[in-house]
Amino acid sequence: MTENSPDPSNAEQAPLRGKTAIVTGASRGIGQAIALELAKMGAKVACIATRVENAQETADRCAVLTPGAQAFGVNVADTAAVADLCKTISKEMGGPDVLVNNAGITRDQILMRMSEEDFDTVLDVNLKGTWNFIKACTRPLMKGAGRIINIASVVGITGNAGQANYAASKAGVLGLTRSVAKELAGRSVCVNAIAPGFIDTDMTQAIDEGARKTLLESIPLDRMGAVDEIAAAVAFLAGPAGGYITGQTLVIDGGLSL
Ligand code: NAP
Repeated sequence: MTENSPDPSNAEQAPLRGKTAIVTGASRGIGQAIALELAKMGAKVACIATRVENAQETADRCAVLTPGAQAFGVNVADTAAVADLCKTISKEMGGPDVLVNNAGITRDQILMRMSEEDFDTVLDVNLKGTWNFIKACTRPLMKGAGRIINIASVVGITGNAGQANYAASKAGVLGLTRSVAKELAGRSVCVNAIAPGFIDTDMTQAIDEGARKTLLESIPLDRMGAVDEIAAAVAFLAGPAGGYITGQTLVIDGGLSL
């Protein structure tokens, strides 16, 4: 056991002990922070990225906190490959008991210039990818009163110029969340969404300096969010405190959408 790893015999320190969590988009940014936070809570984490080698570092760091973490590679938009992968994870790691759909992409462009391909790709990864994992994991999640947490975005609520594809995909994730919450409530599965605002990751590093400055000026808390602030909310929803919360969207945006 390392300094930061949970004491596995202490249920308060390791409330997810014996459980398996899947985190998509776990190679970096928000997904990596979520994977590490769930490992700190005692979960064995299946860390997923487009390629297994991209997720390996996160899996290695998770395994230090809770043994049994593994890296996997899949395109979340590929329905058959996701179904196969989820079977493999269930067989090798058990569960899953917690599913965090975090993988996501942007292909920003004003509507007049947006290509059909950029619209379809963003919808396929962000919305269909989320549906693919929920569908593939529903049976095991129903067995264990599981938790599904979908990472949407505040622009799925507010809309955003230049992000018609991305905002539509995230609004879709919110509708998917509420519908699945209603369907699975009878099996004690809680399904929620988190809608982050402007979080400091590779995704937001890509925004040009001028746009970043304007965005920052519109955030009442006057700063970008940190990945750990999203991971903490996932931990809350995945842990014992989240057992009576379902179908909700938790907005974490420093007041951006006010
Ligand atoms: P990021 O740093 O760009 O990381 C994206 C992650 O998704 C990577 O692990 C990437 O894997 C994975 N991914 C992308 N396409 C994939 C695919 N087709 N199949 C499997 N994995 C795929 O993003 P982030 O900023 O951490 O964002 C994480 C989530 O939060 C996204 O859903 C994003 O929309 C949402 N969000 C972010 C912000 C923000 O300000 N950053 C705000 C609101 C919402 P590879 O390393 O293999 O490419």
